[in-house]
Amino acid sequence: MDKSNQQGKLYVVATPIGNLQDITKRSVEILESVDFILCEDTRVTSVLLKEMGISKKLYSFNAQSEEKKIEIVLQNIFKGESAALVSDAGTPCISDPGTRLVNKCHQVGIEVIGIPGPNAAILALSIAGVPTDSFIFEGFVPQKKGRQKKLKELAVEERTIILYESTYRIEKLLNELNEYMPDRFVVVCRELTKKYEEVWRGTPPELLSAFDDKITKGEFVVIIAAKGFSV
Ligand code: SAM
Repeated sequence: MDKSNQQGKLYVVATPIGNLQDITKRSVEILESVDFILCEDTRVTSVLLKEMGISKKLYSFNAQSEEKKIEIVLQNIFKGESAALVSDAGTPCISDPGTRLVNKCHQVGIEVIGIPGPNAAILALSIAGVPTDSFIFEGFVPQKKGRQKKLKELAVEERTIILYESTYRIEKLLNELNEYMPDRFVVVCRELTKKYEEVWRGTPPELLSAFDDKITKGEFVVIIAAKGFSV
């Protein structure tokens, strides 16, 4: 018998980025059907599973543990078990762990199936109202080493740029954009799909003066519109 018929599969499953109602029917079906789930933080994924009424074996699989857990995951899939990979929020492998596992599965002939769903970058881009015909995703700008170099590179980039930023550095980032690209049109999307969702639009100096007191807590996607774009 063909070995591929006996082995399980790896499902890469997107989960909500805030609003649990954004889980898709197919994601729920897959999470119900797999033998085990690999997740970043078992506490976070437990909340989602509880909400969906799903009880399943959960294993933590994060940036620190990924490398040493890959072999055991592959062995279980070869034995016939199927696995779902999820992250705390959004689409796995997008500024989240999992890429090495997915690569390894392809290399050894394990089928990888993506279950689409929420992603903060694409959601922000879809509501930014800036050119989307060509864009780059840069994720998080380096926290320390290489940060200024990266910002200088981004300042000459012509295409729309998507960045992720945490609550700790959003103010710093906006000040840096003010320094390196004060004329670019910027859209800041905060807490997408959540209660305190907000979208701020303008040049860096406009954003800093209008939203200074609101640049506080939350998760942020920062979109820098293509060079030459203005409203
Ligand atoms: N894999 C995830 C995805 O598909 O969007 C991204 C994971 S990354 C570790 C987390 C970052 O994504 C946050 O720091 C923030 O920049 C962005 N993000 C996640 N959820 C968000 C939300 N609800 N609103 C705005 N940004 C969000």
